[in-house]
Amino acid sequence: MGSDHDVVVIGAGFAGLYAVHKLRDELGLDVQGFDAAGGPGGTWWWNRYPGARCDFESVHYSYSFSDELQREWRWSERFAAQPEILAYLEWVADRLDVRKAFRFSMRITSLVWDDGTERWTVGTDDGKTCTARFVVSAVGNLSVAKEPEFPGVDRFGGQVLRTSAWPHEGVDLTGKRVGVIGTGSTGIQVIPEVARQAAHLTVFQRTPNFAAPLGNHPIDEDEARWLAENHEEVRAGSRENFLGAPYEAPRPSALADPPEERRKVYDEFYGKGGFRLVISTYQDLLFSKEANDTIAEYLRERIRERVEDPRTAELLCPDDHPYATKRAPFETDYYETFNRDNVDLVDVRSAPIETLTETGLQTAADHYELDVLILATGFDAMTGPLLHMGVVGRDGLTLNEKWAQGPKAYLGIGVHGFPNLFTLTGPQSAVALYNNPLAIEDHVDFAAAAIRRVLDGGAGTFEPTEEAERTWGAMTEGVLNMTLIPQAKNSWYMGANIPGKPRAAFIFPGGAPLYRAITQEVVGTDFGGFAIGGEGRPIPPMVQLDPAVALVLGLMLVNGAKPLEECTLEETRAAVESFTMLQAPPRDLRIVRTTFPSPAGEREARIYVPDAEGPLPVVVFFHPGGWIAGSLEVSDEPCRTLADELGAIVVSPDYRLAPEDPFPAATDDTFAALRWVADTIAEHGGDPSRLVVMGESAGANLAAVAAQRARDEGGPQLAAQVLLYPPIDPQADTASKREYVNGPFLSVAAAEGMWNAYLGDPANASSPLASPARASSLAGLAPALILTAQCDPTRDEAEDYGRALAAAGVPAEVRRMSGMIHGVFNMSGIVPRSRELYDAVGEFLQPLFSRAASPVG
Ligand code: NAP
Repeated sequence: MGSDHDVVVIGAGFAGLYAVHKLRDELGLDVQGFDAAGGPGGTWWWNRYPGARCDFESVHYSYSFSDELQREWRWSERFAAQPEILAYLEWVADRLDVRKAFRFSMRITSLVWDDGTERWTVGTDDGKTCTARFVVSAVGNLSVAKEPEFPGVDRFGGQVLRTSAWPHEGVDLTGKRVGVIGTGSTGIQVIPEVARQAAHLTVFQRTPNFAAPLGNHPIDEDEARWLAENHEEVRAGSRENFLGAPYEAPRPSALADPPEERRKVYDEFYGKGGFRLVISTYQDLLFSKEANDTIAEYLRERIRERVEDPRTAELLCPDDHPYATKRAPFETDYYETFNRDNVDLVDVRSAPIETLTETGLQTAADHYELDVLILATGFDAMTGPLLHMGVVGRDGLTLNEKWAQGPKAYLGIGVHGFPNLFTLTGPQSAVALYNNPLAIEDHVDFAAAAIRRVLDGGAGTFEPTEEAERTWGAMTEGVLNMTLIPQAKNSWYMGANIPGKPRAAFIFPGGAPLYRAITQEVVGTDFGGFAIGGEGRPIPPMVQLDPAVALVLGLMLVNGAKPLEECTLEETRAAVESFTMLQAPPRDLRIVRTTFPSPAGEREARIYVPDAEGPLPVVVFFHPGGWIAGSLEVSDEPCRTLADELGAIVVSPDYRLAPEDPFPAATDDTFAALRWVADTIAEHGGDPSRLVVMGESAGANLAAVAAQRARDEGGPQLAAQVLLYPPIDPQADTASKREYVNGPFLSVAAAEGMWNAYLGDPANASSPLASPARASSLAGLAPALILTAQCDPTRDEAEDYGRALAAAGVPAEVRRMSGMIHGVFNMSGIVPRSRELYDAVGEFLQPLFSRAASPVG
């Protein structure tokens, strides 16, 4: 048996170099590194093909953890080429003195877990083994090349070159007849370079891709120095951006802008170069096919402008996938290359490649004589590198068996049954849509924190629970299915570029801020969803969310939304008003705008009248907003939908807000509104004998209080009360307040701030007019439907109220919406499952409405 180590790190690219530094120099561990390459550099060591360069600006596509490294390195181009990135990584390896921790030119052949010793045995291709408590896989996700699907590679008399294993001495293509297969990011980079050298180039294209300009240019010394010296300012906000680079915030919707305006936006970002075109134009490009069609058509137009021969231009125009649903490539002179006399484009979609021959390439239609064939055909992405190492976990289960139907990895970094293995940038992590060096730093920091936690706690093992892994898989798939990504055929995002590979969710496309918020919560909950020393920890709140809800939170983070508890009053009010952006387009309905007499004078109310035969049942709806925010406008869409779906008149009254008008102003206004409706609604075709009081959040608290006041203060008689996640008692001590202390979205601190503003004097908390559960009796109240959200601190006090009502003999139904958060009633435009609230309300009210309407009822 060979040496024993604290940690084995596999890979010496961006991830491995930083991992060794972090674990060895910060945690003081004994770390052994391995890499199959002859030196540091990872993907940049292998991919030496002409034209290889990064497509995030180099100042962003570099480490951020060290002020020194950032200050001292100067980039010579906006998007550096492979030799410069490799030189950077070699320089970093020397500065951190991590080369000596690695054994290079050493491939991992087996990785076997032993439950008895709680160690991994690591086998290398020199026939040796060593052991380690932890293995950090930094093998990257695009490091195993796809094998050609066609025969004849051995028969071909010319040279076959793979872009991913390009000869170090370079290749002279002068005077050669060259073929390139592949028009992904790699092909699009290599093709213009080859065209400049070769006598003739034939590009074999199966699927055209939407390429847009990279916008590369040299950086002079002064600018390079300025960028290095001001790196903090230059890179600020990177991790708050969806893609992890400080790009401009996008406009909300491509469909909201008129075509001329949209064109200006696309022109601007096409000209700026790189990923800004994807991320800084419109927020809905990846979510709405109609929105995506606008940029897809724009890009096709640009291709037609740049390519002279119309037939070639049409062949280059993608028509089978929405833009950016395959990884967006960026180019320099790609389309102009097809205007050259020595370049031909061959469509191998209509006439597929059949075989290589002694002298060239045979398609279903023709034979092409070649001296050199370049394969830019892609990678067995995300899982390939891990599945090629012979990984065997607990009880002899291989990783290949475990992932036979697709990857399963909690947060993309841990696999149940494979303890103490960290799969940096693994499948189902955010890396595919997250500026890689930063995504890598986050993962290394996570692994380091986990290892420290295990060692400090004296535990032996760290691995996700099966439930957490399954829940994360559902989250990943759910978020992916909210995007247009699954519409792309043959995309490595879905594993679909490799014949026989399961088509599954290989990437988490929720963006860097959401992924970071989730992983930070995992760390903050002492690694929720992981088992430490065999002791499983509960899945943390954000992982429990419905994927669409998670995506809403992600978009809020991208848009710079502050946590509610940190908002000023004005900011809270603006935040609540902005709910309208999450709502479905409002339905067309007749609305009567009127006023009602409140104790403080006339106040506005809206009466929503559906197109139905009267007299109609009536719902009085109180808007949300924590008694300090909200308006008739915020509840306009929900009230229209309710009226339309219930066939009921819905009345939405305005009420006074705290802190300007604290308790009991809001309850006095809303109760006055209820009475006014009972007295006057017949004028609008309403039936006051079928009157329901309803509210959302603080509005639901006011509805519950109004129901009690109606009982105690002489009417009106109510058919029902419907309470959507009501806060019931500021002093309630519940499990949900502990579990969801930080939200998501509504935190206990935010709720407390709102209660305090409303109550004015804290002593008011004991009044049943503020805390309806404090009533001396709950008997005789109207039948209640209480809808709660699973991930909401107010959940349990609302459910307790439902149980107390039932105990007092009130027909009360409580329904908990799994994966939902406070406020979800306003997310009808994004969260498909917000429908369940309407369905539940309809199911509850319809029998009451029809019973009350029947003459014998
Ligand atoms: P890719 O995106 O998977 O593209 C592979 C290309 O090969 C596709 O055009 C594919 O066509 C074609 N192909 C594969 N098998 C074929 C066959 N049998 N017949 C005809 N065509 C075939 O691979 P890639 O270009 O190497 O890029 C992979 C990833 O590496 C990128 O998405 C990106 O993340 C990364 N990368 C980044 C940069 C950078 O600038 N930072 C540069 C290069 C690569 P189909 O689409 O029809 O399958």
